[in-house]
Amino acid sequence: MATENLFSLNGKVIIVTGGAGVLGTAFTDAIAEAGGTVIVSDLNEKQCTERANEIVAHGGSAMGLAANVLDEKELIAAREKILNRFGHIDGLVNAAGGNVPEAVVEHDQDIFSMNIEGMKKALVLNLWGTIIPSQVFGSAIAQTGKGSIVNISSVSSKNALTKVLGYSMGKAAIDIYTKWFAVETANRHGSAIRVNAITPGFFLTKQNKTLLTNEDGTYKDRANAILQHTPFKKFGVPNDLKGALIYLLSDASSFVTGIELVVDGGFTKFSGV
Ligand code: NAD
Repeated sequence: MATENLFSLNGKVIIVTGGAGVLGTAFTDAIAEAGGTVIVSDLNEKQCTERANEIVAHGGSAMGLAANVLDEKELIAAREKILNRFGHIDGLVNAAGGNVPEAVVEHDQDIFSMNIEGMKKALVLNLWGTIIPSQVFGSAIAQTGKGSIVNISSVSSKNALTKVLGYSMGKAAIDIYTKWFAVETANRHGSAIRVNAITPGFFLTKQNKTLLTNEDGTYKDRANAILQHTPFKKFGVPNDLKGALIYLLSDASSFVTGIELVVDGGFTKFSGV
């Protein structure tokens, strides 16, 4: 295969959960730009349709399909609709997830009275919101013989980040799930399905806005601390993730499974000194 075609998603049908979100918008654009058909999936049907229409208006191929990642029946219905229309599903990007305010432990909060229900909610959304779609779409993806699942982790899974315990536990669980599922799908299906993760660093988005910025848009101490610990001294922008995603979804990574591709401006590699 010519090198320029290695990264092509031509002919591939790929579903992105959380596809109407901030990073999901970059992911869905990237897939369409690489020639794939993208299924934009999120909670709100109107948002899915609008995002898909935007992609089509720019010359891409897309379909909006609402589904809650925690609702197996909705996901199965979505899978059947995709298979009826396109006949195959080649990839899944598990981008639904995020921080849950009730799972944040504030600096002045009693460490021994954290909100257990909030912690569970963050764990369920991030971990089970990745596992359930992988279960529902996985067998169809393996049948293509060259399928790929990409999970979205976070640098919060690597070292303790204050406040966001529930979210961090969810993402740390995704890391071991990614490795485990990569090995056990390979044991059963060889290289017909690959499972990897992207580990984004800090991107200023709506879900971390209140943690990082004041109402007037200036940075909180937390944002400045992040920048000090990021060798590139800047936050990422969603487009910074496009290359990593296309690599993991395309034949360019055909011998790659179980990895975490870190896109963080060096944050996790710097001791801070
Ligand atoms: P976002 O809030 O803009 O997007 C998340 C999307 O997931 C939203 O559109 C939301 O509607 C959807 N969603 C939430 N619950 C859902 C459910 N039950 N079923 C279906 N869809 C659901 O956030 P984002 O910044 O685009 O983050 C996307 C992913 O990247 C998340 O997993 C997040 O944890 C991860 N991430 C983000 C950052 C960052 O800096 N923003 C860093 C590391 C990892």
